Amino acid sequence: MSAVTAADAAAPAAPPPRRPVAVRARGARVWDERGREYIDGSSGAVCVNLGHGVPEVLDAMRAQAERITFVHRSQFAHHAVQDLSAEILSIAGPGHREVVYTNSGSEATETALRLALHHHAADPARAVVLTQFPSYHGMTAGALGVSGHPPRRRHLDALHDGSATTVPVASGDPGRLLPGLADWRAAFARTGPERVAAVLLEPVGGAASGACEVPDEVLRGLRDLCDASGALLAVDEVMTGFGRTGWWFGHSRSGVTPDLVVTGKGLSAGYTPIGACLVGDRVLPNRPATDLAFGHTMGGNPLSAATALAVLAYTREHDLPGRAERAGAVLREGLAETAASVPFLGAPRGRGLLLALPVHQDAEGFARAPLAARICAAAERNGLIVYPAGVDHRYQAVLVTPPLTVDDADLRELLARLRAAVAEVDA
Ligand code: PMP
Repeated sequence: MSAVTAADAAAPAAPPPRRPVAVRARGARVWDERGREYIDGSSGAVCVNLGHGVPEVLDAMRAQAERITFVHRSQFAHHAVQDLSAEILSIAGPGHREVVYTNSGSEATETALRLALHHHAADPARAVVLTQFPSYHGMTAGALGVSGHPPRRRHLDALHDGSATTVPVASGDPGRLLPGLADWRAAFARTGPERVAAVLLEPVGGAASGACEVPDEVLRGLRDLCDASGALLAVDEVMTGFGRTGWWFGHSRSGVTPDLVVTGKGLSAGYTPIGACLVGDRVLPNRPATDLAFGHTMGGNPLSAATALAVLAYTREHDLPGRAERAGAVLREGLAETAASVPFLGAPRGRGLLLALPVHQDAEGFARAPLAARICAAAERNGLIVYPAGVDHRYQAVLVTPPLTVDDADLRELLARLRAAVAEVDA
């Protein structure tokens, strides 16, 4: 760690980025202190799934805050927390039995990792976690340690380099961005199947791969590989969960039941911090996961739980997964037209309203000035917020992920502003 710190100290200090100051937001729009209006084409950090300022959620927050904002789970149970767990488990369907709460997606990843190791506690040699390259599972040391995200790991590599407990599985085929079943099989064989504690992966990638999808047959094949070897299958649904992909979860369409489901972001749609790890029937079968001696002080506090409950009720009542699928089809068509107008954009990828435009640029150009970041900066000048993604030039993309409640007028305006931004960069 000290070498990293010394290198940082020698680097010239970058000026802090100048961000517009947001003062108000409604639906898919945000206004800054100068009165400028932006389309929130990224749902913040792909979390504001309901859009901003939904009255039903605000009412639930106020009502809960007036009743009680905090009790600790070691001292009191709480209806909002109990109801939220029942709702999450009903959405997840059979095969899951418990929900462990955190304050963020990163902490939910940590929880899944710890539960996987607890599950195998009688077999300490089984301590390897296979993860996908590229991937992003969170910013805490453990979650970043299992992430295939070199730019974000840069400052933490001293903690993780040489770690024998995380094996990032990459595609062995230069024509394919994510690992296929053959790559996973080879990774199990190389590691020794008896040493694999868990496989952890995002069903559709976000920050790391720019909306690359894991095919359903790969998820099903991974379920079989895990079953055959005794490993747990954990899916990171922090970005994909609760409707974003057109399904309640990114893995839903595959029919696979994971052992651990990591969630965050969309669970409260950005209204308050909360994350959760869903625990499958087969994990620690003789012991409630919530009894284990860990937990975050604020994890599953009544205010966050009541907020998430209102968010999930709204998501159900307004069929937001269905809306994501329909709006996603319209958006994808518009993105394809935008991409066709310039040589440096590829056909859109992703699922539902987790979409991305791949950006073509060579490694050298990417290292000097990534084009996706330039497009996002031009978009901001045109009143549109979108998000650059991709760990390197092969994955570089512009994520386009508006709220699931986005209407046709928002979509038309989003696409017009994106086209203007792309034309600016082209010029
Ligand atoms: N996993 C995935 C797939 C994510 O996209 C993120 C956040 N971008 C995280 C984990 C971490 O969540 P948080 O930022 O809430 O800690």
